[in-house]
Amino acid sequence: MTFDKLDLIDPIAQAVREEGYETPTPIQAEAIPEVLQGRDLLGCAQTGTGKTAAFSIPILQLLYNQGLNKSRRRPIRALIVTPTRELAIQIGESIENYGRHTGLSSTVIFGGVNQNSQVNALKNGVDILVATPGRLLDLMNQKLLSIREIEIFVLDEADRMLDMGFIHDVKRLLAVLPAKRQSLFFSATMPPDIVKLANTILHQPVKVEVTPASSTAETINQFVYFVDKPNKINLLKEVLKNEAIRSVLVFTRTKHGADKVVRVLKKSKIAAEAIHGNKSQNARQNALSNFKEQTTRVLVATDIAARGIDVDRLEYVINYDLPNIPESYVHRIGRTGRAGSDGTAYAFCDSEEKAYLKDIEKLIKRKIAVIDDHPFPLGSVEPPAPAESSSAPTGQNRGSGSRPPRKAKFNGASSRRRSTR
Ligand code: AMP
Repeated sequence: MTFDKLDLIDPIAQAVREEGYETPTPIQAEAIPEVLQGRDLLGCAQTGTGKTAAFSIPILQLLYNQGLNKSRRRPIRALIVTPTRELAIQIGESIENYGRHTGLSSTVIFGGVNQNSQVNALKNGVDILVATPGRLLDLMNQKLLSIREIEIFVLDEADRMLDMGFIHDVKRLLAVLPAKRQSLFFSATMPPDIVKLANTILHQPVKVEVTPASSTAETINQFVYFVDKPNKINLLKEVLKNEAIRSVLVFTRTKHGADKVVRVLKKSKIAAEAIHGNKSQNARQNALSNFKEQTTRVLVATDIAARGIDVDRLEYVINYDLPNIPESYVHRIGRTGRAGSDGTAYAFCDSEEKAYLKDIEKLIKRKIAVIDDHPFPLGSVEPPAPAESSSAPTGQNRGSGSRPPRKAKFNGASSRRRSTR
């Protein structure tokens, strides 16, 4: 699935490309066509799934297709209500980004700050309003804005909204909103009171449910090694000394990097194959079946190529390079530990990737255990690593000032020492 299949108008397709998005997330793929058809939507999804774009993109497209009204007295046509100021700001930024070539205008209002600049923005005329409930009702009461001509209404994070005591505010909004409207309702959980609320808001909705990308299966044991970039290949060979690892999926950032890893492993008589976009469909299929049959022990893949790889009981995944999009980490390691079986995910983190690790830990809401008892600790290689990680000669450190590796106490995964920072 690509964004091309979603029939987006050029100004939005261009903005999506500029954001660097290549494929729609599952909720986007499911929700965008339905919302574009004018259907109501019940989305069971939380932050991190791409839900903001799932509702913002079709809203922008629907409004754009109705034509632009530049009058300062034009009605607000879309309203997005979200519980917190942070979410409101984030959604506002996303709408600005996806809508930057549409000429539509949006603004964000929330409490806790002076209302003047928000009121001024409203006076200039807006098509899309993002709001927290309190400030929205406040400005409505002051007759500084009207939601009577809203055509599309989004209630975001409904469960949090109720937890935060906004139910009465929401009901007051519903009493004013026009009955004839399109409504989109998002909630991470669907307890009975949320289902009840959804039923009062939605009309024959399409239901879309996605597993949040941030929930890493409990059955996956996750570890991180801190290692200098040029030593990653040595660390990989070291880890592969553990014979318990009968097959492992290794992720690299680039195709080139994948090929290099394979070359070095092969030299060390480790059966490895790469699977990436430069390979023919046939070559990829062969690599995959060799891996499934365990004639190939190590399959090295880039994110794109790895889509759709579904190998039963994959026990090990190695993030040779850390992804810069934290959700990719979750998708990568989600390939292990399926259906209740145990999985183990190792990450090789060099000094430049520490920020990515932080983002990942924030997303998965836990610290990843550090294995610090290994022969290639961070700082073994000086000067700082050159650009290409897998170009290091095998079996030795390089660089003039290199310290000798610490004595190899490490013996595969079995002797690992765990610590958390
Ligand atoms: P959300 O769940 O809406 O908070 O989005 C989570 C993150 O995913 C945001 O940083 C978005 O910019 C990003 N994102 C949304 N859709 C895509 C996509 N199709 N491809 C890559 N990143 C995306």
